[in-house]
Amino acid sequence: MKRPLEIVAFFGFLKKSLESFNKVQRIKYLILRFTKTAPMSLFGKVKNTINLLKSVDLNQLAKISQTIDLPEAMDALGNLDERQMKGLMKMLKTKKKKGQHNLPPIDGDFYNLDLKLTTEQRELQLKVRNFMEDEVKPLVNDHWNRAAFPFEVIDKFKKLNIVGLPYEGYGCPNLPFLMEGIIAQEIARVDVSISTFFGVHSGLAMGSIYLCGSEEQKQEWLPQMQKLEKIGAFGLTEPEGGSGVSQGMETTCKFDGENWILNGQKKWIGNATFADVVVIWARDEDSNRVKGFLVRKENPGFKAEKMEDKMALRIVQNAIITLTECKIPESDRLQKADSFRDTAKVLKMTRAGVAWQAVGCARGAYESALKYTKKREQFGRPIASYQLIQNHLVEMLSNLTAMQTMVFRLSELQDQELLTDEHASLAKVYCSMRMRDVVSRAREVLGGNGILLEYDVARFVADAEAIYSYEGTKEINTLIVGRAITGYSAFVN
Ligand SMILES: Cc1cc2nc3c(=O)[nH]c(=O)nc-3n(C[C@H](O)[C@H](O)[C@H](O)COP(=O)(O)OP(=O)(O)OC[C@H]3O[C@@H](n4cnc5c(N)ncnc54)[C@H](O)[C@@H]3O)c2cc1C
Repeated sequence: MKRPLEIVAFFGFLKKSLESFNKVQRIKYLILRFTKTAPMSLFGKVKNTINLLKSVDLNQLAKISQTIDLPEAMDALGNLDERQMKGLMKMLKTKKKKGQHNLPPIDGDFYNLDLKLTTEQRELQLKVRNFMEDEVKPLVNDHWNRAAFPFEVIDKFKKLNIVGLPYEGYGCPNLPFLMEGIIAQEIARVDVSISTFFGVHSGLAMGSIYLCGSEEQKQEWLPQMQKLEKIGAFGLTEPEGGSGVSQGMETTCKFDGENWILNGQKKWIGNATFADVVVIWARDEDSNRVKGFLVRKENPGFKAEKMEDKMALRIVQNAIITLTECKIPESDRLQKADSFRDTAKVLKMTRAGVAWQAVGCARGAYESALKYTKKREQFGRPIASYQLIQNHLVEMLSNLTAMQTMVFRLSELQDQELLTDEHASLAKVYCSMRMRDVVSRAREVLGGNGILLEYDVARFVADAEAIYSYEGTKEINTLIVGRAITGYSAFVN
């Protein structure tokens, strides 16, 4: 049994050692301490377990466990004697240059929201993060530059089983909305275009079918879309109808006794150049009500033309859709969509995800900027050591942390079925404004390199502009919240 002073000294030493180590070293060190401090009191074991849990970065641990068998390694380490352990510890310490000190790890989750997730949820988050970093990140700058979509990503995404995450049945995982948000953040943290592709397919298109489709329609489409065998798009916006499309929708549908005939144009429709099915919203010429249709790509009256020369989300294949006497059977009309209120239900469900995307975009930019400032030296010192640069970094982090905690609560409300339009709108407005501030500061601390694709920040700066406008602009979402809190609608009728 150790005496109290020795225990205090032990934890003092442990704490000091941990503070000076990066996360991988901490894991290794704690594994060592675990195996070498037997026999240990129950108190010691509990305390060590807590310390281990606090300091383990599961992301790193997951990576390490892919290359070594952790339980076996722990067994082996337990057999080392004191001298061997000291040697190993020496090896684990990073060799420092003269005058250099160990730098803290780069982690945009400053308030450790990840600790609020279950082990399975955290594992899924890290699986998506590793996938994005290892398999998607190497592709994005080149594709962004060429305005091309990396189709190979679709096949790779299949193994993650994250499509249609919150839906029940039809092969969907049925996980909390919180996880859908966490995953949107993880994808956008690496690339906003890919997260938009994913959000349009899994959120807007599948969500329309899930909320507004008949049982037969759900059975036909959702299982195939969940497996990414069929890709979806969502067509609401029109060349002349953006924010006000609910009132000024020009795309029409008319039942001719046998089929529905659709005419009109849609603009900005993501994934539409290659989607198998596009959910098209159109105004019924007879009832004046908005209805939804599942338009298949092979339909002769359907044409999708890629929009060129965008300065944001260049990977996303946005299209102008033209519908000319496009014949749709009644069986492909969304059976539970009979007014714009039904369209709005879909948008309410997905708007929270867009707020999470804004968080992911800001997080990606902040982490890239922080990394850069630690490496980049001017006047003989890393620029991260200058007060004015630290001011930018801390402003970025405070914005990011406020955004993260806000969307976390937003998703909790959604999971408790308490989410209102104004909840989602407030988060969309706030997060997209803060995101713009974060990406512009990130661009600033990179100096000239902030406008080069190679450093990633330029892409976040450009892509943030699309998030800022889609799924409800700042003005429209502000009007929604303003109406909710004052009781007066400031929308023009
Ligand atoms: C990259 C990208 C991807 C998109 N993907 C899709 C998609 O997949 N499917 C889809 O259907 N749509 C999509 N959209 C369309 C998007 O939802 C619209 O761009 C958005 O709703 C705004 O419409 P608008 O661009 O026509 O702007 P407008 O509605 O013309 O607005 C112009 C300006 O006027 C302001 N404004 C408008 N009305 C008011 C008012 N009453 N009071 C005060 N200010 C007002 C707006 O806030 C904005 O600042 C996408 C857009 C982009 C940029």
